[in-house]
Amino acid sequence: MTDGSTKATLLHSGRIVTPGGVLDDGWVTIDGSRITGVGGRSDTPRNPAHAVDLGGRWLLPGFVDLHMHGGGGNDVTASPDAMAAAVAFHRRHGTTRTLVSLVAAPLADLERQLGWIADLATADEQVVGAHLEGPFLAEARCGAQNPQYLRHPEPGEFARLAAAARGRLRSVTLAPELPGALDLVLDVLAAGAVAAIGHTDATYAQAQAAIARGATLATHLFNGMRPMHHREPGVVGAALAADLACEVINDGIHVHPAITTMVARSPGRLVLVTDAIDAAGMGDGDVQLGGQPVVVRDGQARLADSGSLAGSTLTMDAAVRRAVLESGLSIGAASAAASANPARVLGQGAKFGAIALGLDADLVVLDDRLAVEEVLLAGQWQDRPERNPVGTDKLADWSRPLTERALPSRSDM
Ligand SMILES: [Zn+2]
Repeated sequence: MTDGSTKATLLHSGRIVTPGGVLDDGWVTIDGSRITGVGGRSDTPRNPAHAVDLGGRWLLPGFVDLHMHGGGGNDVTASPDAMAAAVAFHRRHGTTRTLVSLVAAPLADLERQLGWIADLATADEQVVGAHLEGPFLAEARCGAQNPQYLRHPEPGEFARLAAAARGRLRSVTLAPELPGALDLVLDVLAAGAVAAIGHTDATYAQAQAAIARGATLATHLFNGMRPMHHREPGVVGAALAADLACEVINDGIHVHPAITTMVARSPGRLVLVTDAIDAAGMGDGDVQLGGQPVVVRDGQARLADSGSLAGSTLTMDAAVRRAVLESGLSIGAASAAASANPARVLGQGAKFGAIALGLDADLVVLDDRLAVEEVLLAGQWQDRPERNPVGTDKLADWSRPLTERALPSRSDM
């Protein structure tokens, strides 16, 4: 599907998911790396240099994953090659923009890994930058983070990490209740990154204080934080009340599909992330996360010792499918949660994350069952995606009333 030239390409006869709605039998033109036109059937351009018939398939903006630790057997902290391979694995599942997430580790290790991310971001347009998920987290809610490497915020240490990222630090997850955390929010913003609240036992008031300082994202809402209580709503209550952007790991395991439905009720709020570890795409087995043994069974990744969920085996295409099939989102809402909303969190909504004039031509072609068929990154067709059966027949029957449903015991996708 590549013509090798830089002349405009017309993708036509697709179901185009745009910010304004779905264009049935719509078209998109691409010139170089940009989208140069979008429209419906009546005004399809004639005599394009190159035409691609989408044959009624879906065309969505490429997915933007703010939270990714690995995939396809590659842990991003293992080596620069493994990091690049994990990014490429998720690209085959429709992700065209990625933050590379680092778990708590000794500072010198984090500095080295941040350097790899900065190098990779220079070489690979898909890599937007780094997400530091730690080390400034609460031990009480550390989940699969190694408690041995957690630290209280210290400006000098943060400055070292920010410097190591060479301008590519994009997001920092922190626990607002730690001493110095509210000042850290300001340092994070000054470094040009997003301050995210997560792996925290913060009360509502503590979370609110971080939001007042400028935190704009909740890291995997509900996971790694105290449950919402009606008299102490905690981070969940503070994030929802303030209409913060909220990451959700929509794998049918980390949260009930109805949580995804509820978070999506406010437009722009839901941010689908994978939080994927190296086991994504690899089936069951024994792996490691941050130096701790992890067992993957039936698609669930758990610490061998405590049984804590240790990231996911999710890919963004599966997160989108589940949002539509299990959580009842429109394809437009699911697409926004996977692309436009995370792009906006990064302050990049005018560059990528939607099918609109002038934006980067990051596109994903999906079949009727929302399986990835083709991926374009900045106008370039990517390696043929792995066929990833949708498995809708294996999904739980979410048409039954909520009370009759059990959470799926396995992640089939
Ligand atoms: Zn994570």
